[in-house]
Amino acid sequence: YKIPMGHINRIFISHLHGDHFFGLIGLLSTWHLLRRVQALDIYAPAPLEHILKLQLEASGTELNYPLTFYPLSAEIPQLILDHPQLEVSTLPLIHRVPTTGFLFKEKQPPRRINPQTIQHYGVPFQAIESLRMGADFTEPSGKVIPNAELTLPGPESRSYAYCSDTAYNESLIPLIAGSTVLYHEATFMHDRASSAAEKGHSTSVQAATIASKAKVGRLLLGHFSARYEEMGPLLEEAQSIFKESVIVEDGITYNIQ
Ligand SMILES: [Zn+2]
Ligand SMILES: [Zn+2]
Repeated sequence: YKIPMGHINRIFISHLHGDHFFGLIGLLSTWHLLRRVQALDIYAPAPLEHILKLQLEASGTELNYPLTFYPLSAEIPQLILDHPQLEVSTLPLIHRVPTTGFLFKEKQPPRRINPQTIQHYGVPFQAIESLRMGADFTEPSGKVIPNAELTLPGPESRSYAYCSDTAYNESLIPLIAGSTVLYHEATFMHDRASSAAEKGHSTSVQAATIASKAKVGRLLLGHFSARYEEMGPLLEEAQSIFKESVIVEDGITYNIQ
């Protein structure tokens, strides 16, 4: 998909069905051949570590770059990454093998400087960064100017929930409530609801119902059965329940806002 190698430091794998990870070993080998040195972290179901090890050993490959493996449990939601800018947690899903979705949550962005009051109080340039982080300002006289007088609230923090593959699962709703963007699989149209339940998948209507109940900002629909050539009817079904639904394709970039 032409995403520069240097932009990818972490890979999250939801479950070990072929359509979700068979391409991984090819990607890891390609990066090795391209002389990647940058470390890579993989978050995935535990058996994948062994699978990758076998594949690398059998092909006599010793990767040029450090690879760290973080095994996931699909039992309960867990915080798996605490980064200065964002947190990543798992979302237990209902599927035929242990499967987790992921919730990417931006931490509170810095506050914005209020140019008028900054000027009024003569706040020096060196103090600006700490104000953005929420600190008060102390004047040379010792008088404390509260942060709220010098700054404005920053932009709202964004979040992205990835839920695939999964059967209809209402226990997701409180976990993903209010997310900026939700990706939810919609393998089938709603006339195949029983087949979806049997196979651990969802219908477009079910995906839209989760989006509506969780009051997310936007719903991205994907993971369609190969039986559908035209996505129009599937999208219409979803939009009848949740208007902000869109069809998405692999390899395309979507802004989260
Ligand atoms: Zn699957
Ligand atoms: Zn799948």
